[in-house]
Amino acid sequence: MAQILDGKAHADRMLIEVAASVQSRKEKGLRPPCLAVVLVGEDPASQVYVRGKIAACEKTGTRSLEFRRDASTSQAEVDALIDQLNQDPDVDGILIQLPLPKHLDTKSVLQRIDPAKDVDGFHPMNQGRLFQGVEGLRPCTPSAVMSMLRAYGVEMKGKRAVILGRSEIVGKPMAFMLLEEHATVTIAHSRTADLPAVCREADILVAAVGRPGLVEGSWIKSGAVVVDVGINQLTDTELAERILAAEPAKLARFKEKGSVLVGDVRYGEAMAVAGSATPVPGVAEPATAMASP
Ligand code: NAP
Repeated sequence: MAQILDGKAHADRMLIEVAASVQSRKEKGLRPPCLAVVLVGEDPASQVYVRGKIAACEKTGTRSLEFRRDASTSQAEVDALIDQLNQDPDVDGILIQLPLPKHLDTKSVLQRIDPAKDVDGFHPMNQGRLFQGVEGLRPCTPSAVMSMLRAYGVEMKGKRAVILGRSEIVGKPMAFMLLEEHATVTIAHSRTADLPAVCREADILVAAVGRPGLVEGSWIKSGAVVVDVGINQLTDTELAERILAAEPAKLARFKEKGSVLVGDVRYGEAMAVAGSATPVPGVAEPATAMASP
């Protein structure tokens, strides 16, 4: 049975560390850091994420400012808000909750943020710093994965790492972070040939695709470290019966409620073959803690 990589416990430890550093700032007479969170529209998942980020700020003594705008907000209005936050000396970090409504140009919004306040690390300046391996603000989800791997003493140097997914939010930055730690990195995606064989090469397998239960136990090398970033709402009964066959308790919960959250990896199958694995949800908690500046 694989070791559980417990993201929740790791996040709790991180929040305690951040709270201590905020407290020590206050004791030196400095103001606490301040995070501005911008939410445009009413996407229910985004509202949950924003609540989590504000709650993480509260737990650490970090000041948070919430800017909610309705879904019809124009590009000019969002730009003006970002300019205002960029210029505000009391705001240290700006977080634009994604996805933005379709009429807004996400890339241009992200590029407008002052790179020094870009806590999500999505500005090209910070992406470039990651690419160059120099200090800069880094995307929180892959940073959370790295922090968890380090906390559990996972050896990365010389290991084969396979990342499923090539998004700018998770897959690509994850690859560069593992490369910085001297892993030999493969990025796989929807056009990768023979995905199961590629996954079986991985000593460290990170799944970030958004496909419930895509990764089967037979795709995992014995003893591998498996990190499941995917968060999927599973509502399909036939799929649930297939991917939760090795997790009877979760399958029973699905039958009772009609839906459950699952990752991209079949956790029950992974636990039988991997050396260690993350449950889902599990990576989201340290990612949220990472978002607190
Ligand atoms: P995304 O932008 O939709 O990217 C998904 C990636 O997966 C793409 O590169 C896509 O390949 C690849 N892919 C899709 N289907 C595939 C398949 N059948 N086989 C192989 N590759 C496939 O997603 P994302 O934003 O990176 O998020 C991925 C997952 O992580 C989602 O479940 C999301 O909810 C979750 N997430 C979790 C956190 C957290 O804090 N835990 C944070 C962010 C996201 P192509 O490029 O070829 O299309």
